[in-house]
Amino acid sequence: MRRLTAESRKYRATDLENPVLYFEATGAKGKVEAMPFIVLKSRGCSWKLKHGGCTMCGYSFDSTLGDPVSESQLLHQLSIGLGRAARVRPTIIAVTPAGSFFDPEELPREVAFKIADAVRKLGSLRVLYVESRPEYVLQAAEDSFLDELLDRLKPLELSVGIGLESADDFVRNCIIHKGISLRIVEKAVKALQERGVHTVLYTLLKPAFLTEREAVEDSISSVKWAASRADRVVLFPLRVYPYTLNWLLWRKGGYRPPWLWSLVEVLERLAPWELEKLIVTGWGTPPPTRLQAYNCSECTSAVKQILKRWNASRDPSYIREAKNLSCSCVDEWRRELQQKSGCTREKIEVALSELGLFEVAR
Ligand code: SF4
Ligand SMILES: [Zn+2]
Repeated sequence: MRRLTAESRKYRATDLENPVLYFEATGAKGKVEAMPFIVLKSRGCSWKLKHGGCTMCGYSFDSTLGDPVSESQLLHQLSIGLGRAARVRPTIIAVTPAGSFFDPEELPREVAFKIADAVRKLGSLRVLYVESRPEYVLQAAEDSFLDELLDRLKPLELSVGIGLESADDFVRNCIIHKGISLRIVEKAVKALQERGVHTVLYTLLKPAFLTEREAVEDSISSVKWAASRADRVVLFPLRVYPYTLNWLLWRKGGYRPPWLWSLVEVLERLAPWELEKLIVTGWGTPPPTRLQAYNCSECTSAVKQILKRWNASRDPSYIREAKNLSCSCVDEWRRELQQKSGCTREKIEVALSELGLFEVAR
């Protein structure tokens, strides 16, 4: 992964005047609404810089991949982003660097405090949303930075998103190379909830090497694990970015993004209370890629539209409507579900050896 990260440097962020700004559906406090999402282009995720990062991660595009970014550059991006986001009078806003909000190497704590001061001045706002790896959440809880930030943010509330990806240790750490235990995720969620912070866990549909059936089962058990701990769960059908393991495999015919039918099956098999907590995201959010969940050209757009309506309304009848759509590609999807397991250590080692990336599995 370190080699891929080095090769992806040509895609790193160079315009440090402007942040990334887009709008994402969220339900961090019950009602679903469009949240301005400001990504401050930072030096990048420390896990990526030191250890190569996660195998599907496309966040290189939003960071300088280790080149220094000054506090004044981060604050300038903040002021540009807030100026644009304020026009829609949001009640919730995301302001986070390309990696982890609570990583002081990536986002100096003085900048984090200034973010709290700045968003407090936006009249319409109720919630600040940030993202972080769990080890930095715990570090911030232990050294009181989290408590100081919460004081500074009052009366606004804080919501924190953490990437779980999968509840399966082998999938999360060997395939995705996340480098975190379930225990640390649980501890971080608990530390946040004890302080009244709203928690969001991100899960992934179809990491590399899983068959379509394995991906569906992994996603269901991951959403269930997350829903029983966090206040909100996000399900992210995997999108393929250049210079990721999924991209290398896709180029060799060894990876296909998830079928939308698989996404529908995941939703259909969740309990109502789990669905209540769930948001599906990953469509139309940057960085752009065409390689994302799809069916055949006849039904992709129709299924996506129905799923977007479900996201916005939470009405389970949309899941039934998607399930009942008929299309000739359903048979092809069902045949893929029958495919024999691909998730054996031996098979993965062979595939990684062919790509010259065998060290990922060690
Ligand atoms: S922790 Fe997040 S930002 Fe860092 S490499 Fe993994 S997915 Fe990317
Ligand atoms: Zn179809």
